[in-house]
Amino acid sequence: MKINNPEYISSAVNAKDYPFHYLPEIALAGRSNVGKSSLINKVVNRKKMAFTSSKPGKTQTINFYQIDNYFYFVDLPGYGFAKVSKAEKEEWGRMIEGYLLNRSNLEAILLVIDARHKPTKDDIQMFNWIVQMNMPALVVATKIDKIKKSQRKKQEKLIKNTLGINQFTPFTFFSAETGEGKNEVFKFIGQFVD
Ligand code: GDP
Repeated sequence: MKINNPEYISSAVNAKDYPFHYLPEIALAGRSNVGKSSLINKVVNRKKMAFTSSKPGKTQTINFYQIDNYFYFVDLPGYGFAKVSKAEKEEWGRMIEGYLLNRSNLEAILLVIDARHKPTKDDIQMFNWIVQMNMPALVVATKIDKIKKSQRKKQEKLIKNTLGINQFTPFTFFSAETGEGKNEVFKFIGQFVD
């Protein structure tokens, strides 16, 4: 897969505003600020296509990026940001559910979690939903550049045990700094792309 012209298409809150097309969509789910936009940028080799931010809680829309004529990346609003109101949390739930339950282009999910920490309650809930829906998913533990090599095995075990990942669920470490894990992400996406 050689990517020449990845581009931001649009942002949406409601289904009526999703772009119309026939390509497969790969959605990214994860905590607010976990590094979803940075992952997208690293994978498509662009510095600023997807909006990154050092402030948690900014992406409150569903963002669509067309990756040539291969597929779309769909960046879902990040969950688990404590400083939002109950109403905002409900709005978030409606937005995510609206997309995940009804989008016929959706083929697979990248569940992005922080390699440094034990998966949160929200991560577990998201993973359980993926399993229940029988949705193909790759668990991506990002920011691996921030932990020591000697800690990797321990973190991998903690993450897999906490989420309840079995040997059939694909898992990879990732770093938007070093590019580690990029090939694994491509290999996974390749299964859904012509
Ligand atoms: P999003 O809210 O999930 O889209 O998160 P962003 O991609 O905006 O990233 C949030 C912050 O984490 C930014 O300051 C990024 O520079 C940083 N970040 C993201 N991925 C990595 C990574 O792999 N390694 C390191 N060291 N920092 C990262």
